[in-house]
Amino acid sequence: MLPTLHERFPLREFNTFGVEARARYFCRVRAAGELAALAAEPKLDGLPRLVLGGGSNLLLTGDFDGLVIKVEVPGLREVGDSGENWHVEVGAGENWHDTVERLLAMGRAGLENLALIPGNCGAAPIQNIGAYGIELAERFDSLVAWDFEANQTVRMSAADCDFGYRDSVFKRQLAGRRIVLSITLALPKRWEPVAGYADVAHELKARGIGRPAARELFDAVVAIRRRKLPDPATVGNAGSFFKNPIVTRDEHRALIAHHPSLVGYPLPGGRVKLAAAWLIDAAGLKGATRGRAGVYEKQALVLVNRGGATGAEILALAREVQDKVAEKFGLWLEPELVIV
Ligand SMILES: Cc1cc2nc3c(=O)[nH]c(=O)nc-3n(C[C@H](O)[C@H](O)[C@H](O)COP(=O)(O)OP(=O)(O)OC[C@H]3O[C@@H](n4cnc5c(N)ncnc54)[C@H](O)[C@@H]3O)c2cc1C
Repeated sequence: MLPTLHERFPLREFNTFGVEARARYFCRVRAAGELAALAAEPKLDGLPRLVLGGGSNLLLTGDFDGLVIKVEVPGLREVGDSGENWHVEVGAGENWHDTVERLLAMGRAGLENLALIPGNCGAAPIQNIGAYGIELAERFDSLVAWDFEANQTVRMSAADCDFGYRDSVFKRQLAGRRIVLSITLALPKRWEPVAGYADVAHELKARGIGRPAARELFDAVVAIRRRKLPDPATVGNAGSFFKNPIVTRDEHRALIAHHPSLVGYPLPGGRVKLAAAWLIDAAGLKGATRGRAGVYEKQALVLVNRGGATGAEILALAREVQDKVAEKFGLWLEPELVIV
């Protein structure tokens, strides 16, 4: 059945930056059949599509002259196990953090390091969400997506998704072509805490916890994030605006020679992931304000809407950050979020 199509629909409440923009058409989808009906609707033929979850990883730079599809597929159910892992299928429209907490209450641990990441479950594979030493890819079995070219649902394995650092096939070859309807998580039966990340280790120590239970790790991650990151309900933002750049060992050596306090984390294979927040801070932009857009005072990787900013204003600030970091360090910061 064709979902209700709203015209000239305001999107301010549907993006965590809180910028004003309108969609030519907007609809909510709860099942694959509705996507088949949308594909067959003549007035939508040839229009660009934007898939929306919680709107916490995108920047709208103007009105969207196409169809915005808000995915609201519900549901959470255990679908068996693979010997090592419990498998749980979750609808793309379920809120991510609520799902992490619900699973913990069901005795299904493994996602606590990813607590409090805003947005919905359907978007989690798009950039292979990650935080505090865990990425979705490590807890992922498969997903079901609607394919607009084949006009049918397809199941995709982790290999099909080709996950990378804040990256997947959905940001590349399949951009705009497939809509995630559900994901199946693989949660370890023999759970081990992942608590090596410095912030997490400090927080647990401060709480007097040696080996944390899953709920204790969850609480620690939530506390760290509440302190460090702005809550989109009060300050418009989309989390990290840029990816941390990855350089070779030689490039790292050359940079350290000029900037001895440069912060980087060694990766397997000899490469080094640099802290983009440090680069932005060192370029003198932490806490900067340009019009109604700004660089967050407590975490320079986060750009914020200081009240009434347009998407274009935030984008202009992002460009300034990229230029200044490139000028000082010869490195180009790639956006982590999706610029629409
Ligand atoms: C305060 C804050 C902190 C954050 N911290 C982190 C963090 O620690 N780690 C991290 O990885 N991210 C983080 N993020 C980014 C964001 O929360 C995640 O990327 C999240 O998965 C986005 O979910 P969403 O539903 O809001 O996606 P949206 O913003 O709605 O969409 C993001 C992209 O995914 C596509 N998409 C959404 N749903 C679907 C679907 N069902 N099928 C196909 N494509 C889809 C959209 O078209 C868009 O390209 C943070 C954001 C904020 C605001």
